[in-house]
Amino acid sequence: MKKKIAVLYIVTGRYICFWDEFYPGCEKYFLPEDNKTYFVFTDAEKLKYEENKNILKIYQKKLGWPYDTMMRFEIFLSQKERLKEYDYLFFFNANTKFLSKVGEEILPSAENDFLMTGSHPAFYNKQPDEFTYDRNPASQAYIPYGAGKHYATGALNGGGGASYLEMCEKLAELTRIDIDNGVIPLWHDESMLNKYLLDKNPLIMPVNYLYPEGRWMPRKWYKNNPFKDDIKILSTDKAHPRYGGQDYLRGLTDKKKTQNPVYSFFEKLLKK
Ligand code: UDP
Repeated sequence: MKKKIAVLYIVTGRYICFWDEFYPGCEKYFLPEDNKTYFVFTDAEKLKYEENKNILKIYQKKLGWPYDTMMRFEIFLSQKERLKEYDYLFFFNANTKFLSKVGEEILPSAENDFLMTGSHPAFYNKQPDEFTYDRNPASQAYIPYGAGKHYATGALNGGGGASYLEMCEKLAELTRIDIDNGVIPLWHDESMLNKYLLDKNPLIMPVNYLYPEGRWMPRKWYKNNPFKDDIKILSTDKAHPRYGGQDYLRGLTDKKKTQNPVYSFFEKLLKK
């Protein structure tokens, strides 16, 4: 039987530029046999493809950095009643580009507490005490040294409808407590996500399910990349001049980055 999948996607301000390539790729490669509905939280007046029936455009004002990402759990919950009708919910960062098929292997089971995430490429082969969990005891996202097994990426996470919504409820609440106390979790929603998953057993997809375009992978991978023939999802580089650069995207500056670094390997992939 076809499953009902909700894709959660936030594009406020200049991040709207990512939607045009996200949607066709996701349609083609992500759980292609199932029924997908896109919940697009945006302040954009027009959305390319918005006439398609599986796109729900939901007005979301630009909150400013870092609230555009940090408030995501509360933002999703604004659609809680609608989201309850879906079997699975998945969030993807805006700068996500599908390159090949992602099937049912991404669906978490009861053994996974019906939760999944991607392995963060920056911590590939690193030990938990090297992870940038939030080490600030004043934050609700605090994780002490000696705890934790994996570092989850905020850029890709999802789960069974009920389990994911339960997580959103808890993390929206913890985020509010931090805000009321004048605390910003170190990596915002990602720090909160890692806190929540600490005592869970999420399905963790390997790094080819969220492979960074930028050149910040282990140095030896530039020449001998273990995943190069099987990159399923690319996290396109926000620092790249084709997007104006990260600070421009986030609305922190109006000055676009113009320097044009050479990304030959990835430029080829993007043309696929
Ligand atoms: N975001 C947005 N508008 C902004 C900033 C962020 O819509 O001005 C959303 C968008 O979905 C983006 C996510 O928040 O993918 C995370 O932000 P970003 O990718 O800049 O953070 P990072 O993942 O690098 O910490």
